[in-house]
Amino acid sequence: MSRVRLLVMNAALGPLDYRVPDGMAVQHGSVVVAPLGPRQVTGIVWEEDRLPAQSVPEAKLRPLLAVLDVPPIRAELRRLIEWTADYYIASLASVARMVIASGGALRGPAMMTEYRLSGGLPERLTPQRQAALEALEGEQATIRELAGIAGVSEGLLRGLVNQGVLEPVEVDVDRPYPRASAGHAMVDLNTDQQRVAARLVEAVREAKFAPFLLDGVTGSGKTETYFEALAEALKANRQTLVLLPEIALTEAFLSRFESRFGAAPIVWHSSLKSTERRRAWRAIASGEAQVVVGARSALFLPYANLGLIVVDEAHEISFKQEDGVRYNARDVAVMRAHFEGLPVVLASATPALESLHMADSGIYEKLVLPSRYGGAELPVIKLINLIEEQPGRGAWIAAPLRTALEDRLAKGEQSLLFLNRRGYAPLTLCRNCGHRYQCPNCSAWLVEHRLSKRLACHHCGHETAPPEKCAECGEPDCLVACGPGVERIADEVAEILPEARVAVVTSDTLGSPEKAAEFVAMAEAKAIDVIVGTQLVTKGFHFPELTLVGVIDADLGLEGGDLRAAERTYQQVAQVAGRAGRGSKPGEVMIQTRHPEAPVIAALEAGDRDAFYEAETESRRHAGAPPFGRWAAIVVSAEDDREAREAANRIGDTRPHLDDVMILGPAPAPLALLRNRYRYRLLLNAKRTANLQAVIRDWLAKVQHPPGVRVGVDIDPYSFV
Ligand code: ADP
Ligand code: ZN
Repeated sequence: MSRVRLLVMNAALGPLDYRVPDGMAVQHGSVVVAPLGPRQVTGIVWEEDRLPAQSVPEAKLRPLLAVLDVPPIRAELRRLIEWTADYYIASLASVARMVIASGGALRGPAMMTEYRLSGGLPERLTPQRQAALEALEGEQATIRELAGIAGVSEGLLRGLVNQGVLEPVEVDVDRPYPRASAGHAMVDLNTDQQRVAARLVEAVREAKFAPFLLDGVTGSGKTETYFEALAEALKANRQTLVLLPEIALTEAFLSRFESRFGAAPIVWHSSLKSTERRRAWRAIASGEAQVVVGARSALFLPYANLGLIVVDEAHEISFKQEDGVRYNARDVAVMRAHFEGLPVVLASATPALESLHMADSGIYEKLVLPSRYGGAELPVIKLINLIEEQPGRGAWIAAPLRTALEDRLAKGEQSLLFLNRRGYAPLTLCRNCGHRYQCPNCSAWLVEHRLSKRLACHHCGHETAPPEKCAECGEPDCLVACGPGVERIADEVAEILPEARVAVVTSDTLGSPEKAAEFVAMAEAKAIDVIVGTQLVTKGFHFPELTLVGVIDADLGLEGGDLRAAERTYQQVAQVAGRAGRGSKPGEVMIQTRHPEAPVIAALEAGDRDAFYEAETESRRHAGAPPFGRWAAIVVSAEDDREAREAANRIGDTRPHLDDVMILGPAPAPLALLRNRYRYRLLLNAKRTANLQAVIRDWLAKVQHPPGVRVGVDIDPYSFV
């Protein structure tokens, strides 16, 4: 090739053409550095006919500067980048940036210095140094990491380096990972599991596109079963990607993976350190990485040799990215498998209605695990009608649930209370004047967090100390908490069961993998009697002694008019119920509700999943909602309210009039102010036959806005705020 077209990693620029200097070898997919004015840009060499650009005469072309020392981005992945940008109406560059997710990795091999104890002693052994030495026994890491491990300053450790107590070790940043082995610890599968595993193993061997819905009740051994397919990919020297919804889930998963395969998988998520990130990226791109377990962003990495994709807990809404490229990793995973020609497994006990519909239409192959492993029974489910069983003022736990909690504590068994609300109370007001504490940046109430002694906004992260007197009327000590959050429920448990050991589990208390591991270890060691948690505890955990699950307010998710409210309530309650009775002791689930007659609550009580899905399918069909029709949202925002409103109106005024696309709005978004930006929404509901993306693209291309206005498009939206 003597000239090339580049997709450059800058969304503001279109494709650019360059000359290839003599002696430089490039091919489609090569990652290169090119001059741009006085600066440099990174780009990927693309097929010219797939990336139209204004043609530049040969003589005007500037030469490429370098080809980077990474494998070229493969054609299959280039097609996925194009598809994702097209489907989600995003720029190619913003999708490609998710592929080139480590700037460091592009810079080629590198060494770094780590430190470890040399065996020598410091000149003066202060208690602090003594403690540091003990903490660092057997550790090797950078000074900064060691300081974190030992809980001392970096300065103290530098002193130890100068005295020779810590010695430097040069390590290859991209040193190889421990190898996993397919046959490390085999598991005897039961008959159902064998049937499913055999089908998945066969699909890995066939190595062609095959989407599966692995539909199995909680505790049926879905993980155990897809591990067999993963083992097959390991044997064939092909890579596996396992997508998990939450970082909290990862730690339990990792240790389980390690005991099955003898080495931990490679982990990928947004809070990796840059050295870990580049090491993982290079191993993935070279093919050395065998198994990657990651959050949704792991989906776009440049796997050299992918053989299998698993999306575990595939119904989870955290697979939907809500900023930048607003993609759904579950759906893009299927597309990646399609382009690469591989099996993809969507595993869930409560599949998304869309996924079930694909299975029922024969597009996905459905594999079913109907019962829990080892004869564990599914829990008994009881409703508590809160209208008849009122918990009393300032209390949220009704009498039958109280009694059940007391009973479990007496028997030495564990209980779990579920409420999807972080903090102490969702609303704080002044007892004297009724002033409500609101976020200055968002149209949202501030949530009181007693554990951290803050009032916090759950949308933008704004925090303040609780005021000593009312901001409005000046009355001292006047704050009243309205409604419950998990912290308040934990207080109520402490009143009912003063001797119980209670753990609050939310993203506030379980924010890191270490804390998650600590919690799991304590729960397994029976050092916790009652867990009070948000949706973070609804999945993944397996505590054999946990026999009671209480749902504090099953109606909470049904309020708010969200399109998928019923489905989400069903999934959350069914998942949290699935934590009960996973060992040999039977489980019991108590659901507190004011609407026992609501179809979703009745279906939960009856344990009749099919009835729920049928009713929900009918109502979606009626509403033209997914999977029968499609939704899209256009969100217009600006720091100035008038500017935002005018931009939204301009878009509204130029709307196309079509038979197969209904356009609603613009209207102020439910969160009308978010992070200091005023927001307006338009909602589109399209028939399946409509080319929704083309309609939106053509429409928005015609409207011009001042620079402060942002227009975001959300295809297949999950969030309706
Ligand atoms: P799911 O993913 O469907 O919730 P898991 O794979 O987590 O189910 O299995 C639930 C529990 O049962 C786990 O502790 C798992 O180790 C155990 N288990 C499942 N199948 C087997 C098996 N064939 N042999 C031994 N233990 C199993
Ligand atoms: Zn806020």
